[in-house]
Amino acid sequence: MRRLALLLLVAVGVVRASGAPWGGGTTPVPRSTIESRLAMATRGNDARHAILVQLFRSAGCEVTEQPFARAKPSNVICTLPGASARRILVTAHFDMTGPGLGVGDNWGSASLLPSFYESLRATNPQHTIVFIGFSEEEEGLVGARHYLRSTNLDDIDAMINLDGAGMAATRVWGTKSDRRLVRRLRELAKEMNLELVDSSLDGSGIMDSFPFHERGVPVLSIHGLAPGNYGIPHSRHDDFHAVDARYLNDTYRLVLRMITVVDAGS
Ligand SMILES: [Zn+2]
Repeated sequence: MRRLALLLLVAVGVVRASGAPWGGGTTPVPRSTIESRLAMATRGNDARHAILVQLFRSAGCEVTEQPFARAKPSNVICTLPGASARRILVTAHFDMTGPGLGVGDNWGSASLLPSFYESLRATNPQHTIVFIGFSEEEEGLVGARHYLRSTNLDDIDAMINLDGAGMAATRVWGTKSDRRLVRRLRELAKEMNLELVDSSLDGSGIMDSFPFHERGVPVLSIHGLAPGNYGIPHSRHDDFHAVDARYLNDTYRLVLRMITVVDAGS
């Protein structure tokens, strides 16, 4: 999360309801895996980059690096080939700033990317699913903007970006998301009995998905900023206490299901 000004809250509605059908070979990783990957948060963006690459590799993915500036860590890209070249992007920045450990902002989210890949790798998706750890978000969405300029936006059917995942129950920044995707996510949350809060914090921050949204890419901007944790990103309090593994696991499951649904076009 890149902070712009004082945070304002527009939170509307909480949805709850039951059951999680996983089809097509999708196998969620256990919560213990989510927790052990979360526990690898460290300071230093080069170290975080190296850990993310290693996590993707150990999940079985061949990583591509997208360098964009000398002496800056590259974007980390893991591609799951699909039947079609049309793409779904699943993204989170891995860099951090401030005196803390950058666990909430944004290691929790970044650490989920290899788990999404691992859960889906045995499926034969319709879409090519591209998992991207963006670099230098905190410097002004630098890695994400570089990727945006480097790619054909017309073949992206959805981009799901996570920032602050696990700091609270799953939130969606509705004003910076595609309405149809938000509606589908709400339905899934209800089906799975998972909490989903509509919380748009316009004027208080920006995320890597916003420039894609502005360019017309169907985006889901997922976050975890909630009353009570607004002061945590970029502070010394952004440590392992900033993320609740239960929330992180819930967000993981909801987003995993959403990826499969978007992929199936259902
Ligand atoms: Zn931030």
